[in-house]
Amino acid sequence: MIEYGPGLVDPGNLNSAEIIACGTEVLLGQVLNTNAWWLARQLADLGINCYHQTVVGDHPERLRQAIEVALERNDAVVITGGLGPTADDISLAQAARAAGRELTFSESAWQEIVAYFAASGRTPTENNRKQALLPLPCWLIPNHNGTAPGVAFTVDYAGKIRTLILLPGPPNENRPMFTAYVAPFLAEHSAAEFRHIYFHLVGIGEAQTENEIADLVAKSGNPSIATYVSPGEVMIRLTQRRDKSATDAEADMLAPLAAEVRRRLEKYIYEEGNRSLPEVVLAELLKNGRTLGMAESCTGGLISSELVAFPGASRVFLGSVVAYDNSAKEKFLGVAPRVLAEEGAVSETVALQMALGCRERFGSDYALAVTGIAGPEGGTETKPVGLVYIALAGGIEPEGCCEKFIFRGERQRIRSLTATNALALLYRLINCSESYLR
Ligand code: ATP
Ligand code: MG
Repeated sequence: MIEYGPGLVDPGNLNSAEIIACGTEVLLGQVLNTNAWWLARQLADLGINCYHQTVVGDHPERLRQAIEVALERNDAVVITGGLGPTADDISLAQAARAAGRELTFSESAWQEIVAYFAASGRTPTENNRKQALLPLPCWLIPNHNGTAPGVAFTVDYAGKIRTLILLPGPPNENRPMFTAYVAPFLAEHSAAEFRHIYFHLVGIGEAQTENEIADLVAKSGNPSIATYVSPGEVMIRLTQRRDKSATDAEADMLAPLAAEVRRRLEKYIYEEGNRSLPEVVLAELLKNGRTLGMAESCTGGLISSELVAFPGASRVFLGSVVAYDNSAKEKFLGVAPRVLAEEGAVSETVALQMALGCRERFGSDYALAVTGIAGPEGGTETKPVGLVYIALAGGIEPEGCCEKFIFRGERQRIRSLTATNALALLYRLINCSESYLR
């Protein structure tokens, strides 16, 4: 944060902050409000309570009102969007109005904008002068990925010190700015901090998870415990709010609760932290120096794509056959035509032959194969929509093993559940194979 004084007033203790996303495109549903989502998580980690999030269009009057409401009920207000040089960028002007501040042209801020443009061989336009109009005194938040700097200032609002923080709308600009400058600034003024532990589980539903920890949830306060679901997965979050002045004994409240969750649900937990299932599977393969081939029918490459999203995939993932039609299953994986004719493409034998054929052709340590009916058409009495076979070959199962699932829901959900369960099966096989082979 660059200080533009004189007369800067310290923010004091920051207990609460409201996030205001400014942008008509967000209101219209053309842009997903990922700024609020991302910032909320950052504020939580900093120990700052976020009781309200607001979305408002690029409309001066309504924006000013939203800022006034936020100033009334929060120590800090974080506004994203509308900081650019064009006429529809009105955030700073309205923030200043709400706070009863004038905007003044700052020559040194202007020189920085000129320098920023010069660095990329350009000259600023007359429009850009607007970005040097500041509610002095204030802090300027450098933007290394765009022209609009962020601005922070404090104001005496009805006798209370409030802090306003304005960041540009594009996530690739505001996130690095928040992390590098705003987070340390807020951390200094936050009276508390939150500590979190995240458990990620597969192979268990939400209802059963809640049953297993019902008594812990019932008596939770601080630390708190909550469960979340996404297709095929459950997440348990443990959170402790702790005053910064707390002693070490008070600091330890999370550990015993986490130990209890671990004791009860150990066999379902694949991650304690922030990594997703594909990321964890990839890490396991890397750690053990094993390779993987894939044969996908109903998922059409989805599982491979989830793995390849993470760096390091090239060292373990050899390739994938998207064998959608029967002819592809025969030609590229060696599935027997007789089996396809007699048992159908969605059957245990076909899934197994896909996995074995895949492992042989890729020469991989493990091979994962899926075949299923994603719907909405194609289901029958004996083979309903959602019927999926997931087969694996390798490790302690060189001859292959297969699991049958009947997923409910629409097409994309069935495909996504298939991907998650396939990776979960692979994760389990890797774990027991590697401990067995060692
Ligand atoms: P710029 O200088 O790029 O104009 P700005 O601060 O004026 O920055 P906006 O014009 O409000 O920002 O938004 C620019 C882009 O940032 C939007 O088109 C959108 O892609 C993204 N954006 C804006 N608000 C949000 C939001 N709440 N969540 C996610 N992305 C957003
Ligand atoms: Mg803009």
